[in-house]
Amino acid sequence: MHGSSPWRNDVLADLKFGPAGYPAEAKNSVKRVFQILSDVELDALEYAAVYGLRMGEKKAISIGKAAKSANITMSMHAPYYISLASKKDDVRERSRNRLIKALKFAPLMGVKRIVFHAGGYSGRDPNEAYQLILDSLQEVWSTAGHHGNGALLAPEIAGKLKAFGSVDEIIRICENVEGCIPTIDWAHMYARRQGGIATKKDYLDILEVFEGRLGEKFTKNMHFHVSGIIFTKAGEKAHRPLDGKWGPDILPLVEVIREVGYKPTFISETPDSLKGALYTKYLFEELEKAQQ
Ligand SMILES: [Zn+2]
Repeated sequence: MHGSSPWRNDVLADLKFGPAGYPAEAKNSVKRVFQILSDVELDALEYAAVYGLRMGEKKAISIGKAAKSANITMSMHAPYYISLASKKDDVRERSRNRLIKALKFAPLMGVKRIVFHAGGYSGRDPNEAYQLILDSLQEVWSTAGHHGNGALLAPEIAGKLKAFGSVDEIIRICENVEGCIPTIDWAHMYARRQGGIATKKDYLDILEVFEGRLGEKFTKNMHFHVSGIIFTKAGEKAHRPLDGKWGPDILPLVEVIREVGYKPTFISETPDSLKGALYTKYLFEELEKAQQ
């Protein structure tokens, strides 16, 4: 059974680091984007289609070619306007179509993971919202999953408590939809817990929940977002740098990842996302040096 599973695929077998969105320094030039990433020795990029995937196939193919020649592993953040539990049929349909379009563009752009937020509860009971979101994703995957040519859908842990995306909800979706893997946004996780992540054990406890329930589907496809964050009782308020002024401290996470030997892709969602990616990679390198 595992032989044909889409996640049994070791293209992502190494630690990878990259920014969310194009670095500002690239001034929207695709050529400059990949030149900058190569120059600073990063190896991942999460293409930001957050306001819609507004490009033609030609442009998508040119991005895919540039990424391949620079050896950059691509993911994509699908549009924010996805609401799979909306009370409006047309909104739910448009939301499914945004994911289907992302799956169709993924192979052109070399994208392996499509990160997205499933939406809010839209005033529904959480179980009812879960069922609707599950049904939608099963439908999207069964009708359009093959278009992705190996790309997986990666629903993200939500930073706001009123949004769909608790640990349990995301894991249950991934247990029940073949093409879904979790995106762990550590800043969102921290905001949801009102700051309760500080030690290696805190990180390990969370990782063990994902691994215990999803097994290799999780460990072979670890996709993380990192940044600092400010939050209120309602959860996420705004992303912040990783400079220690805001939590969560990712050093214990980096230590745990090294010790266990996990190989996640780290995408930085700090305001200067290139800097955040370099800082994350720097922590690994410093630990490596300290061990020698
Ligand atoms: Zn995120």
